[in-house]
Amino acid sequence: MLLIGSEAQPFAKTGGLADVLGALPPALQRLGWDATVVLPRYHGVSAGTLSRTFPVSVGGYTRTAGFYEAPLADHARAVLVECPDLYHRDGFYGADGVDYPDNPRRFAFLVRAALEYAAKRGTAPDVIHAHDWQAGLAPVYLKTVYAAHPVLGGTPSVFTIHNLAYQGLFESDWLPRVDLGWDQFAVDRLEFYGHISFLKGGLTDAQLITTVSRRYAEEIQTPAFGFGFDGVLRARAGALVGILNGIDTQEWDPARDPFLPAPFGAEDLSGKRAAKIAVLKRYGITADETSLTRPLVGMVSRMVAQKGFDLIEAALDRLTALDATFLVLGTGEPRYQEMWRALAVRYPDRIGARIGFDESLAHLIEGGADMFLMPSRFEPCGLNQMYSMRYGTVPVVHGVGGLADTVTDVSSGNAAANGFVFTDYTPEALLGTLARAFSTFGNAPSWHALQAAGMQQDFSWDRSAQEYVKIYRRAIGLRAEGKGHTDGS
Ligand code: ADP
Repeated sequence: MLLIGSEAQPFAKTGGLADVLGALPPALQRLGWDATVVLPRYHGVSAGTLSRTFPVSVGGYTRTAGFYEAPLADHARAVLVECPDLYHRDGFYGADGVDYPDNPRRFAFLVRAALEYAAKRGTAPDVIHAHDWQAGLAPVYLKTVYAAHPVLGGTPSVFTIHNLAYQGLFESDWLPRVDLGWDQFAVDRLEFYGHISFLKGGLTDAQLITTVSRRYAEEIQTPAFGFGFDGVLRARAGALVGILNGIDTQEWDPARDPFLPAPFGAEDLSGKRAAKIAVLKRYGITADETSLTRPLVGMVSRMVAQKGFDLIEAALDRLTALDATFLVLGTGEPRYQEMWRALAVRYPDRIGARIGFDESLAHLIEGGADMFLMPSRFEPCGLNQMYSMRYGTVPVVHGVGGLADTVTDVSSGNAAANGFVFTDYTPEALLGTLARAFSTFGNAPSWHALQAAGMQQDFSWDRSAQEYVKIYRRAIGLRAEGKGHTDGS
């Protein structure tokens, strides 16, 4: 197995992609697969042992690349591609909010380096698994530059979308500079409204496509969530599968979380009360009988409209009138940061806001809150609702993407109900759902049943990795049958 992407834990992270690429290779090796993930060796990354060096060329641009291997497990490793001219910069993708102008070359080079590295091992990987636009050219190169390659020719590829909002859009004159012909500048190829899109290359040429939840796989086939790619995705509906991300169940475990004052589990939730006291204190709110009986709503999030902060803003007057405590942690758009700061000043005994990134406080909020609010407008997978459930913290969510796939509303009558879900993206729906949650919170047996349902769920990577293995086997089968595409199958 060869995985290609721009970030992987513990080497480089800006988002969920890094969690997936760090966790999936070890999970695959537990299922008996040998897995290598290739990513850039960015400025400041010192991990890995130099295993080989050789020149890599993209569109006449040639540099000697160093390949540094770092083990992730017995049969899983990262290979970090060193090329100072391309990767030793202040940011991964850009600086001061501006993308690096040579990003097409930087990531085409990564893909070429990964494929050349695999070719030099003499046997092709069973499958090449490319992630997001940065690796979008891997499926394209396998069908063009490497189509008749003695080692890599015919290798099947899988492409995973982590967030469709990022599409790798560039001027078409990049085509020759990334070794592609002008025939790629066509609407059924890489062209996207006058530009070329690396993402579209991956979507078009991979044998199979996955994204990070079943519901998101359906949603991105609609204009509302498709960012203009819904048509391309509908055309490949038969090849598109949703696989929910796993979570790190070691790091997020209330029974041994060093950031909690006392451990707890489904059988004994007394440690959760200790966490509630601790988190109230961290926010400077007195932990007395009043504040301990009030429902405590937590949020840990990027403060952007995607995460539902526009909805909260629209509901603000009625939200702050509720008899509940809100504790928020996040960074993002200044207007939402200011909004929460001002609320905390105005309601010091019921609202707490911390602007910043704080891993330990994120754990304490998950441990101490009664409910966790995620009103995202769209959410490819989402992790916090899964952390919440492990910590007996009941999620209140907008039913989209991974939130819809992991949270089942009490009113569904389903025995596995584990939270509260609203469908309409309106202040009324948000407030009505919070009111329902507060009412259930007042009924201890019902509330404990909800907590228990969430705490029993399996969100481990092993479950996700099994789903990926099914996809890999399907891609390998397609190769054996000599089929390029599975559309409509
Ligand atoms: P996204 O990747 O879209 O931001 P996810 O829910 O998939 O959303 O993952 C976000 C991750 O980042 C979660 O693990 C969340 O706890 C963490 N996180 C976000 N903001 C903060 C913060 N300010 N402090 C600590 N952790 C944060």
